Amino acid sequence: MGKRKSMPSKKKIKDYWCDKLNSFKSFDEIKKDPFLYKMASVDFGEPSCWACGYYPSSDSQAKKSKFLERCHIVPDMLGGPNSPDNFLLLCKECHIESPDTKNPKWMKKWFVEKKNFFIGEYERTATLTKEEMKYALDNREEFFLFLSENSGCHMTNKHWASQTSLDLIREFYEEGNNGRES
Ligand SMILES: [Zn+2]
Repeated sequence: MGKRKSMPSKKKIKDYWCDKLNSFKSFDEIKKDPFLYKMASVDFGEPSCWACGYYPSSDSQAKKSKFLERCHIVPDMLGGPNSPDNFLLLCKECHIESPDTKNPKWMKKWFVEKKNFFIGEYERTATLTKEEMKYALDNREEFFLFLSENSGCHMTNKHWASQTSLDLIREFYEEGNNGRES
């Protein structure tokens, strides 16, 4: 009883991580921390699982972010606090899959290594070719840099809107492959 109430709201969790990312002077600083680097790819504007990028096909459900669950980084039963910095917003499957350990490094490692939102984007829209998706996934590090340099809002609450991501995956692919063919 009362346990859920003591957890911060999803908005508070989202705002905490947005503020955290915005507190850095440059994207290079964020890049030094793989956990924050992955966090910077989260599309906070259009709710999707922060780890895998899943969102339900029903728009109304997705918009209300009802499918997202508040997931402790360190479980409260292992001493993790109920403050926003100890939470991620995850889909049910990721919530179940993610490690419950006293040391936050395992959760962070899992989070960083979990395949991210590109796949969800692709399945939902199916407007990108498999080659375009694969290229962005295979060159993920470079793509994040490309995204940060070519989108206007990577440090704002909107982060990368879905369409921006799709357009830039395409552009990234085109730029990467033009040189090769000639
Ligand atoms: Zn997920």
